Amino acid sequence: MIGILGGGQLARMTALAAARLGFPCHVFCASADEPALDVCAARTVAAFDDCEALTRFAQSVAVVTLEWENVPLEALDIIAAITPVHPSASVLRVAQDRGLEKRFAREVGVGTADFAIVKSAEELQSAMERFTLPAILKSTRMGYDGRGQVTITAGMDAADAWAQMGSGEGILEAFVAFEQEVSVIVARREDGALTAYPPVRNVHRDHILAETHAPAALDPAVQKEATALASQLAMQLHVVGLLAVELFVLKEPNAKGQRVLMNEIAPRPHNSGHWTIDACPCSQFEMLVRCVAGLPLGSAVPHSQAVMHNILGQDIAKCQGYIADPSACLHLYGKKESRTGRKMGHVTFLKGKWD
Ligand code: AMP
Repeated sequence: MIGILGGGQLARMTALAAARLGFPCHVFCASADEPALDVCAARTVAAFDDCEALTRFAQSVAVVTLEWENVPLEALDIIAAITPVHPSASVLRVAQDRGLEKRFAREVGVGTADFAIVKSAEELQSAMERFTLPAILKSTRMGYDGRGQVTITAGMDAADAWAQMGSGEGILEAFVAFEQEVSVIVARREDGALTAYPPVRNVHRDHILAETHAPAALDPAVQKEATALASQLAMQLHVVGLLAVELFVLKEPNAKGQRVLMNEIAPRPHNSGHWTIDACPCSQFEMLVRCVAGLPLGSAVPHSQAVMHNILGQDIAKCQGYIADPSACLHLYGKKESRTGRKMGHVTFLKGKWD
């Protein structure tokens, strides 16, 4: 039995991939209507600070993985005392904090946007004076899909921006005039064996991933740089499982000769890897299962080019067209309630043979 912390669509697709390899999953999540609960063998619906529930969960499984990097570290410690957890608390500690993440990247030679950690409106004010504006203020913790982010423009009031961000610590980031946004998903086993899916291009709308194009059209040298950088992060973090790395590709190399900068990392399956279900021999979800179960890595070499579109609440009517389209691989997450901006499913179109 494989334990999964979190019950969203990533857990659902992981449990489906695990089932294909003959593994039942035990999902631990906080609410009773999460998508993964429909497709798992065992379920615990409890809070992430419920020690007793965490202990019982850990005792019931051979290994634990997760679909959410913000699982409280205390919960991981309780579980790790009983059964192995991949990825570990040390990986999550870095991935939970945008400041630590960027510092770590720089330490291992990976480029990032220039940044300053700010702990008050006054510190923000002085950072704004040093930075070329516009810049982006983000909360260091719990930010996703653009939440907790404020674009800082010249003349903006630091106290207003600080209040808008709404959290205890922020990171001011220089605005990167990127040519494109790409991501690389790396898989790593406990013995260090590693593989990476090719870089893909991501298009965001309203801060939410809208489309993934596989492959990203990149010069071979940039493709190599992106893959090397993502692999370097996975190795240096000693990730067991997956590491999704979101990257900015610059039009021209920066002063350090870098064309690729890290934006953020997520040590779990990633929305920009959903296309791998239909276009690769081994999907990101199966790859995760293989890594945490200590099985050989699968093949991350795609057989088809692909474009993935997210289906948000406002797009749900498009499903009638997708279901009738033989070229569309439709995946719905079984969410009971549709809301604007909520990820309800995705659709992948295969685009011919991978070169
Ligand atoms: P994040 O939550 O950090 O992934 O940011 C969400 C999106 O905002 C990214 O995918 C980019 O499109 C944009 N963004 C974030 N940080 C920067 C930056 N420093 N410069 C330019 N665009 C950014």
